[in-house]
Amino acid sequence: MTAERAIRTARELADAGLVGREQEEAISRVASRYAVAISPTIARLVDRDDPNDPIARQFVPDMAELTLMPEERADPIGDGAHSPVAGIVHRYPDRVLLKAVHVCPVYCRFCFRREMVGPEGLGTLTPAELDAALAYIAGRPEIWEVILTGGDPLVLSPRRLGDIMVRLAEIDHVKVVRFHTRVPVVEPDRVDAGLIAALKSSGKATYVALHANHPRELTAEARAAAARLIDAGIVMVSQSVLLKGVNDDPDVLAALMRAFVETRIKPYYLHHPDLAPGTGHFRLSIEEGQALVASLRGRVSGLCQPAYILDIPGGHGKAVVSAGAIEAEGGGCYTVTDFRGNRHDYPPKG
Ligand code: SF4
Repeated sequence: MTAERAIRTARELADAGLVGREQEEAISRVASRYAVAISPTIARLVDRDDPNDPIARQFVPDMAELTLMPEERADPIGDGAHSPVAGIVHRYPDRVLLKAVHVCPVYCRFCFRREMVGPEGLGTLTPAELDAALAYIAGRPEIWEVILTGGDPLVLSPRRLGDIMVRLAEIDHVKVVRFHTRVPVVEPDRVDAGLIAALKSSGKATYVALHANHPRELTAEARAAAARLIDAGIVMVSQSVLLKGVNDDPDVLAALMRAFVETRIKPYYLHHPDLAPGTGHFRLSIEEGQALVASLRGRVSGLCQPAYILDIPGGHGKAVVSAGAIEAEGGGCYTVTDFRGNRHDYPPKG
């Protein structure tokens, strides 16, 4: 029996019934521009009877990706402007991104690093580059947290991950290690005892931020994979991207946040989509995003509330962009809006 492998070409997409045969040539043009990979788990999750399936929309290439908008940029969140050595992004004083690998088990069609990831992307750091990246961290006592992202760091073998973790363990001033990944959802079987041991081998407080955008991604297998991580002492938080046609609906967004909390994953970031090339069909307006986020307030528990975040283009970092619930009226008086949209004076008059 041959092991199942990811779908990577237009021909394989057509063979799997994920695009029509007549689309094969057009889709191969998209696939030659932006990496394609759909893991077997995700291919099974797609509802082939639904032309608007939110899982397919995230992973199956679309001709709309060849339409570029003037405001889009190759490096939408400005990683390059803050990269002192290969593999490091140092945007905030107390933390760095460590991008050890630029490969993912799936390629999201809205990816903010789509110009860097993929088989033809920036690849994996060489041993010398990894040495230099770790030396950069070791030489800066202000670095408190190291965030492994990429690419997806959980595609590294437990041996390679464990090697990085053991080397981070030797850097006293690093207290927290965080991984950003899609693996528990898209390849849940990869989360085994070997991987978990590697993740924990730094001995630091270890966090895993799980990227998922639709409640159907939180399958029984994904929830079990998350449980294995959490039961081993790893803290999990979520990150999602607000995406037109995937989760731009109050019920879907509420179900997603509840699914995270039921899985013991604290909702953390809800990103406004970045200005990545060929992703205009996923973007909604900030006002639409604010209305969706406001809709969560009245619907779901405080535990289910993520922060609505915009990464400011150019590398200026993150800003919370939820609509304000309070307006200053002057003289120490305010108007505050409740979850039903009713306005109240603060302090109350009379
Ligand atoms: S997993 Fe992350 S880095 Fe990889 S394609 Fe998706 S959004 Fe991009």
